[in-house]
Amino acid sequence: MGELETLSVMGLPIHCGVCYEDWLLARHSQGLASHVVTLNAEMAMQADQNPALKEVLCQADLAIPDGAGIVLYFRIKGKRMRRYPGIELAESLLAKLDSTQSVFFLGAAPEVAEKAAHNWQIRQPGLAIAGVQHGYFSAEELPDIEKRLEQLQPTVILVALGVPRQEFWIRERRHLCPQAVWVGVGGSFDIWAGLKERAPAWFCNNNLEWLYRLYQEPWRWRRMLALPQFAVRALTYSSGREG
Ligand code: UDP
Repeated sequence: MGELETLSVMGLPIHCGVCYEDWLLARHSQGLASHVVTLNAEMAMQADQNPALKEVLCQADLAIPDGAGIVLYFRIKGKRMRRYPGIELAESLLAKLDSTQSVFFLGAAPEVAEKAAHNWQIRQPGLAIAGVQHGYFSAEELPDIEKRLEQLQPTVILVALGVPRQEFWIRERRHLCPQAVWVGVGGSFDIWAGLKERAPAWFCNNNLEWLYRLYQEPWRWRRMLALPQFAVRALTYSSGREG
Protein backbone atom coordinates (compact mmCIF):
# COMPACT_ATOMS: atom_id res chain seq x y z
CA MET A 1 0.00 0.00 0.00
CA GLY A 2 1.33 3.51 -0.82
CA GLU A 3 1.72 6.41 1.58
CA LEU A 4 -1.22 8.68 2.34
CA GLU A 5 -0.49 12.04 0.73
CA THR A 6 -2.23 15.18 2.04
CA LEU A 7 -2.99 18.08 -0.29
CA SER A 8 -4.81 21.26 0.58
CA VAL A 9 -7.60 23.34 -0.95
CA MET A 10 -8.95 26.43 0.84
CA GLY A 11 -7.24 25.22 4.00
CA LEU A 12 -9.04 21.85 3.79
CA PRO A 13 -7.24 18.54 3.39
CA ILE A 14 -7.63 16.14 0.48
CA HIS A 15 -5.97 12.76 0.65
CA CYS A 16 -4.61 10.60 -2.14
CA GLY A 17 -1.86 8.08 -2.80
CA VAL A 18 -3.51 4.99 -1.29
CA CYS A 19 -6.31 2.57 -2.10
CA TYR A 20 -8.86 4.23 0.18
CA GLU A 21 -10.84 1.08 1.00
CA ASP A 22 -7.74 -0.96 1.92
CA TRP A 23 -6.39 1.93 3.98
CA LEU A 24 -9.67 2.20 5.91
CA LEU A 25 -10.02 -1.52 6.53
CA ALA A 26 -6.38 -1.71 7.66
CA ARG A 27 -7.11 1.00 10.22
CA HIS A 28 -10.18 -0.94 11.34
CA SER A 29 -8.09 -4.05 11.93
CA GLN A 30 -5.60 -1.96 13.90
CA GLY A 31 -8.48 -0.93 16.18
CA LEU A 32 -8.72 2.62 14.86
CA ALA A 33 -11.85 4.53 13.90
CA SER A 34 -11.92 6.62 10.72
CA HIS A 35 -14.11 9.53 9.74
CA VAL A 36 -14.36 9.86 5.97
CA VAL A 37 -15.35 13.15 4.39
CA THR A 38 -16.30 13.32 0.70
CA LEU A 39 -15.28 16.83 -0.27
CA ASN A 40 -16.98 18.82 -3.01
CA ALA A 41 -17.18 22.52 -3.89
CA GLU A 42 -20.44 23.07 -2.01
CA MET A 43 -19.02 21.59 1.17
CA ALA A 44 -15.83 23.65 0.85
CA MET A 45 -17.89 26.83 0.47
CA GLN A 46 -20.00 25.92 3.50
CA ALA A 47 -16.84 25.34 5.52
CA ASP A 48 -15.55 28.74 4.43
CA GLN A 49 -18.56 30.31 6.16
CA ASN A 50 -18.74 27.90 9.08
CA PRO A 51 -15.57 27.54 11.18
CA ALA A 52 -17.02 24.62 13.18
CA LEU A 53 -17.57 22.65 9.96
CA LYS A 54 -14.09 23.60 8.74
CA GLU A 55 -12.62 22.21 11.95
CA VAL A 56 -14.48 18.90 11.53
CA LEU A 57 -13.35 18.58 7.90
CA CYS A 58 -9.76 19.35 8.90
CA GLN A 59 -9.83 16.66 11.56
CA ALA A 60 -11.31 13.93 9.36
CA ASP A 61 -9.04 10.94 8.98
CA LEU A 62 -9.68 10.73 5.26
CA ALA A 63 -10.98 13.37 2.83
CA ILE A 64 -11.63 12.17 -0.70
CA PRO A 65 -12.16 14.27 -3.87
CA ASP A 66 -15.91 13.76 -4.39
CA GLY A 67 -16.56 16.80 -6.57
CA ALA A 68 -15.55 17.88 -10.06
CA GLY A 69 -14.55 21.33 -8.75
CA ILE A 70 -11.99 19.81 -6.40
CA VAL A 71 -10.42 17.69 -9.14
CA LEU A 72 -10.31 20.61 -11.60
CA TYR A 73 -8.74 22.86 -8.98
CA PHE A 74 -5.88 20.41 -8.47
CA ARG A 75 -5.53 19.93 -12.23
CA ILE A 76 -4.99 23.68 -12.58
CA LYS A 77 -2.37 23.38 -9.85
CA GLY A 78 -0.64 20.65 -11.85
CA LYS A 79 -1.76 17.69 -9.71
CA ARG A 80 -3.79 15.05 -11.49
CA MET A 81 -6.23 13.05 -9.42
CA ARG A 82 -9.28 10.98 -10.17
CA ARG A 83 -12.64 12.15 -8.92
CA TYR A 84 -13.89 9.60 -6.42
CA PRO A 85 -17.55 10.09 -5.44
CA GLY A 86 -18.47 9.05 -1.90
CA ILE A 87 -21.11 6.65 -3.23
CA GLU A 88 -18.40 4.74 -5.11
CA LEU A 89 -16.17 4.57 -2.06
CA ALA A 90 -19.10 3.25 0.01
CA GLU A 91 -19.94 0.66 -2.66
CA SER A 92 -16.43 -0.72 -2.97
CA LEU A 93 -15.98 -0.67 0.80
CA LEU A 94 -19.07 -2.84 1.26
CA ALA A 95 -17.88 -5.16 -1.52
CA LYS A 96 -14.68 -5.74 0.48
CA LEU A 97 -16.32 -6.69 3.78
CA ASP A 98 -15.94 -10.31 4.86
CA SER A 99 -18.63 -12.32 6.65
CA THR A 100 -17.44 -11.21 10.10
CA GLN A 101 -17.73 -7.53 9.18
CA SER A 102 -20.98 -5.60 9.06
CA VAL A 103 -22.53 -2.35 7.90
CA PHE A 104 -25.05 -0.05 9.57
CA PHE A 105 -27.24 2.21 7.41
CA LEU A 106 -28.20 5.44 9.16
CA GLY A 107 -30.14 8.22 7.47
CA ALA A 108 -32.67 9.11 4.73
CA ALA A 109 -36.46 8.78 4.93
CA PRO A 110 -37.82 5.65 6.70
CA GLU A 111 -38.86 3.65 3.60
CA VAL A 112 -35.79 4.82 1.74
CA ALA A 113 -33.33 3.56 4.35
CA GLU A 114 -35.11 0.16 4.47
CA LYS A 115 -35.26 -0.12 0.69
CA ALA A 116 -31.60 0.85 0.29
CA ALA A 117 -30.58 -1.87 2.78
CA HIS A 118 -32.93 -4.38 1.12
CA ASN A 119 -31.45 -3.66 -2.31
CA TRP A 120 -27.97 -4.12 -0.90
CA GLN A 121 -28.96 -7.49 0.52
CA ILE A 122 -30.07 -8.56 -2.96
CA ARG A 123 -26.97 -7.14 -4.62
CA GLN A 124 -24.61 -8.75 -2.12
CA PRO A 125 -26.35 -11.64 -0.31
CA GLY A 126 -23.34 -12.29 1.95
CA LEU A 127 -23.35 -8.72 3.28
CA ALA A 128 -23.92 -8.61 7.05
CA ILE A 129 -26.30 -5.72 7.74
CA ALA A 130 -25.99 -4.87 11.43
CA GLY A 131 -28.92 -2.43 11.38
CA VAL A 132 -30.93 0.23 9.63
CA GLN A 133 -32.07 3.53 11.11
CA HIS A 134 -33.79 6.30 9.16
CA GLY A 135 -32.64 9.88 9.52
CA TYR A 136 -35.82 11.53 10.80
CA PHE A 137 -35.60 10.48 14.44
CA SER A 138 -36.48 12.70 17.41
CA ALA A 139 -34.17 13.84 20.20
CA GLU A 140 -35.94 11.31 22.48
CA GLU A 141 -35.02 8.45 20.15
CA LEU A 142 -31.35 9.38 19.98
CA PRO A 143 -30.11 7.63 23.15
CA ASP A 144 -31.55 4.31 21.89
CA ILE A 145 -29.88 4.74 18.51
CA GLU A 146 -26.57 5.45 20.20
CA LYS A 147 -26.99 2.41 22.45
CA ARG A 148 -27.68 0.22 19.41
CA LEU A 149 -24.54 1.40 17.67
CA GLU A 150 -22.51 0.82 20.80
CA GLN A 151 -23.82 -2.74 21.18
CA LEU A 152 -23.53 -3.68 17.51
CA GLN A 153 -20.06 -2.23 16.81
CA PRO A 154 -20.52 -2.31 13.01
CA THR A 155 -17.40 -2.25 10.83
CA VAL A 156 -18.80 0.42 8.52
CA ILE A 157 -21.37 3.07 9.47
CA LEU A 158 -22.86 4.96 6.53
CA VAL A 159 -24.44 8.23 7.65
CA ALA A 160 -26.82 9.86 5.16
CA LEU A 161 -28.09 12.98 6.92
CA GLY A 162 -26.87 15.60 4.41
CA VAL A 163 -24.07 18.15 4.83
CA PRO A 164 -23.17 19.43 7.42
CA ARG A 165 -25.36 17.48 9.80
CA GLN A 166 -23.78 14.11 9.00
CA GLU A 167 -20.26 15.48 9.55
CA PHE A 168 -21.14 16.86 13.01
CA TRP A 169 -23.11 13.71 13.83
CA ILE A 170 -20.12 11.49 13.11
CA ARG A 171 -17.67 13.70 14.92
CA GLU A 172 -19.82 13.68 18.07
CA ARG A 173 -20.39 9.92 18.05
CA ARG A 174 -17.28 8.28 16.69
CA HIS A 175 -16.23 7.33 20.22
CA LEU A 176 -19.24 4.98 20.41
CA CYS A 177 -17.67 2.68 17.79
CA PRO A 178 -13.95 3.29 18.12
CA GLN A 179 -12.97 0.80 15.40
CA ALA A 180 -15.54 1.72 12.78
CA VAL A 181 -15.23 3.35 9.39
CA TRP A 182 -17.73 6.24 9.51
CA VAL A 183 -18.66 7.73 6.14
CA GLY A 184 -20.95 10.71 5.48
CA VAL A 185 -22.69 9.64 2.27
CA GLY A 186 -25.23 12.43 1.57
CA GLY A 187 -27.93 11.30 -0.85
CA SER A 188 -26.52 7.80 -1.54
CA PHE A 189 -29.39 5.91 0.13
CA ASP A 190 -31.83 7.72 -2.19
CA ILE A 191 -29.91 6.28 -5.13
CA TRP A 192 -29.57 2.75 -3.73
CA ALA A 193 -33.28 2.78 -2.96
CA GLY A 194 -34.05 3.69 -6.58
CA LEU A 195 -35.56 7.05 -5.64
CA LYS A 196 -32.97 8.98 -7.64
CA GLU A 197 -30.61 8.02 -10.42
CA ARG A 198 -26.93 8.68 -10.78
CA ALA A 199 -25.84 10.43 -13.93
CA PRO A 200 -24.91 8.20 -16.91
CA ALA A 201 -21.23 7.24 -17.03
CA TRP A 202 -20.40 9.82 -19.71
CA PHE A 203 -21.39 12.69 -17.36
CA CYS A 204 -19.44 11.16 -14.47
CA ASN A 205 -16.32 10.53 -16.56
CA ASN A 206 -16.31 14.13 -17.80
CA ASN A 207 -16.76 15.73 -14.38
CA LEU A 208 -20.32 16.75 -15.32
CA GLU A 209 -22.35 14.78 -12.77
CA TRP A 210 -23.37 18.13 -11.26
CA LEU A 211 -24.96 19.13 -14.60
CA TYR A 212 -27.06 15.97 -14.72
CA ARG A 213 -28.08 16.55 -11.12
CA LEU A 214 -29.16 20.07 -12.00
CA TYR A 215 -31.31 18.66 -14.81
CA GLN A 216 -32.81 16.04 -12.46
CA GLU A 217 -33.28 18.39 -9.51
CA PRO A 218 -33.55 21.94 -10.98
CA TRP A 219 -34.56 23.35 -7.60
CA ARG A 220 -30.94 22.80 -6.51
CA TRP A 221 -29.69 25.58 -8.82
CA ARG A 222 -29.02 27.93 -5.92
CA ARG A 223 -26.87 25.31 -4.17
CA MET A 224 -24.98 24.77 -7.43
CA LEU A 225 -23.82 28.39 -7.50
CA ALA A 226 -21.26 27.11 -5.02
CA LEU A 227 -19.28 25.67 -7.93
CA PRO A 228 -18.29 28.95 -9.68
CA GLN A 229 -17.97 30.63 -6.26
CA PHE A 230 -15.63 27.85 -5.21
CA ALA A 231 -13.50 28.28 -8.36
CA VAL A 232 -12.93 31.97 -7.60
CA ARG A 233 -12.43 31.46 -3.87
CA ALA A 234 -10.10 28.46 -4.16
CA LEU A 235 -7.85 30.09 -6.74
CA THR A 236 -7.58 33.39 -4.89
CA TYR A 237 -7.28 31.68 -1.49
CA SER A 238 -4.43 29.62 -2.79
CA SER A 239 -2.23 32.47 -3.91
CA GLY A 240 0.63 32.61 -1.46
CA ARG A 241 -0.91 30.10 0.95
CA GLU A 242 -1.14 26.76 -0.82
CA GLY A 243 0.45 25.05 -3.73
N1 UDP B 1 -31.85 13.52 5.57
C1 UDP B 1 -32.10 12.85 6.74
N2 UDP B 1 -32.52 13.56 7.83
C2 UDP B 1 -32.67 14.89 7.80
C3 UDP B 1 -32.37 15.60 6.59
C4 UDP B 1 -31.95 14.87 5.48
O1 UDP B 1 -31.98 11.64 6.80
O2 UDP B 1 -33.04 15.47 8.83
C5 UDP B 1 -31.43 12.74 4.40
C6 UDP B 1 -32.25 12.95 3.15
O3 UDP B 1 -33.43 12.17 3.22
C7 UDP B 1 -31.29 12.50 2.07
C8 UDP B 1 -29.92 12.88 2.66
O4 UDP B 1 -30.14 13.17 4.03
O5 UDP B 1 -31.35 11.11 1.92
C9 UDP B 1 -29.29 14.13 2.05
O6 UDP B 1 -29.33 14.08 0.69
P1 UDP B 1 -28.75 15.23 -0.24
O7 UDP B 1 -28.96 14.77 -1.64
O8 UDP B 1 -29.27 16.58 0.18
O9 UDP B 1 -27.23 15.10 0.17
P2 UDP B 1 -25.97 15.85 -0.29
O10 UDP B 1 -25.15 14.76 -0.92
O11 UDP B 1 -26.34 16.94 -1.24
O12 UDP B 1 -25.43 16.35 1.01
